[in-house]
Amino acid sequence: MFSDAHCDTISRILDKDQNLWSNDGHLDLKRLKEQGCALQFFAAWIEPQFEKYGALARCIDIIDKFYIELEVNTEHLHLIEKSSDVDFAIENNKIGALLSIEGGSALEGKLSTLRMLYKFGVRAMTLTWNGRNEIADGIGEGDRAGGLSKFGFDVVREMNNLGMIVDVSHLSERGFWDVAQCSSHAFIASHSNAKTLCNHPRNLTNEQIAEIVKRNGFIGINLYSMFLSESDAKISDIMRHIDYFMSLGAEDVLGFGADFDGVDSLPENICGIGDMQKIINELSKIGYSDIVLNKLLYSNLHRAIKQIMKIQKKNIAFCTVFIYYISMILFLVKMAIYFAANFPLRVVAEPSSMDRPLPRTCA
Ligand SMILES: [Zn+2]
Repeated sequence: MFSDAHCDTISRILDKDQNLWSNDGHLDLKRLKEQGCALQFFAAWIEPQFEKYGALARCIDIIDKFYIELEVNTEHLHLIEKSSDVDFAIENNKIGALLSIEGGSALEGKLSTLRMLYKFGVRAMTLTWNGRNEIADGIGEGDRAGGLSKFGFDVVREMNNLGMIVDVSHLSERGFWDVAQCSSHAFIASHSNAKTLCNHPRNLTNEQIAEIVKRNGFIGINLYSMFLSESDAKISDIMRHIDYFMSLGAEDVLGFGADFDGVDSLPENICGIGDMQKIINELSKIGYSDIVLNKLLYSNLHRAIKQIMKIQKKNIAFCTVFIYYISMILFLVKMAIYFAANFPLRVVAEPSSMDRPLPRTCA
């Protein structure tokens, strides 16, 4: 069994007019089932040409395609909306499908859009793609890249409130540290590798890795050749990155975010999700215990999702109790006003000497 935190399949099959069950890309449901997938993130990737104009409309088109596929494949997929859905999907032999957004330009600068996308079932969002948007700068902005904007801070806080997963893959380094400073909850880098092994701006520095480990977040190993190795990538490079992350104490936060259908080159002998078993076999050969293997393959990702969504449940529970008590107090105040207005207390006063009838005198 394995789970994965990032693919761009829905955007791809929308553009190519293909379907999720079987297609000629890196990933489809048929192969996910054959390989024993427990849970897959499906990202709505907002490509750069839509970032300036029409980002939200593009996002809605991809989400629409996601739901069309979800409906057609209801016997194979279960939508992940709350923490209990993760285990429900496994118990019912379905693949958990978590809807995410890749590129916060989809919000078009509005928190109301974030809340509405949450209602549409979106449970995770990478704050940026490579460029600048209303939330922050992406890593493509280079050394001059800034961090979160004021709106970006508001977005992170609102995502915390909603129990949405904040994803820092693609975000500038300054943006990363702004998130670390203002996010009250764990966050994830869904598809990023180690910069020490492959010096690409999309990869994470040792300090960033340490921060995610400290926060008990999640890091997904990306299978894009360019992020694995500065020369031709092989399966051994995937193992090299995993070993390195493990040496930095990432045993409880590491997993996969393969980036299938979002990349144009994969390691030698890997053509897509159909080759996942090759990677699992290689991992077994390294000599990790079954417990560690299960953490890497699925349980770290499941734990992170449940942990962040549980916060959402707690918030909802707290709000419900808070609203209940406020309603009760308002009700009692209303009742008091009603009774005071309709049934005033009658104070029987002693008539004053002025009110007393004058004594009748004899004429
Ligand atoms: Zn990406």
